[in-house]
Amino acid sequence: MNNEQSIPCPTCQNKIPFDPIALLQGAQFVCSNYQGVVGLATDSRPIVEETMGKFDEMRKNAGQVKKVDE
Ligand SMILES: [Zn+2]
Repeated sequence: MNNEQSIPCPTCQNKIPFDPIALLQGAQFVCSNYQGVVGLATDSRPIVEETMGKFDEMRKNAGQVKKVDE
């Protein structure tokens, strides 16, 4: 299991490592192949949501993160 999250570049399919939380907060990531910028475009939303789902599952499995709810 790799902790690093990545999304395929929409232009060259190169895998771009990213932080899904930062991405959802509006951060942008640059493809190393052609210097393109990848943000949270509408068509990348499913990928991010899927990744976030996996991320959530990883955290549950790890059991290291406690969420405090009132
Ligand atoms: Zn690319």
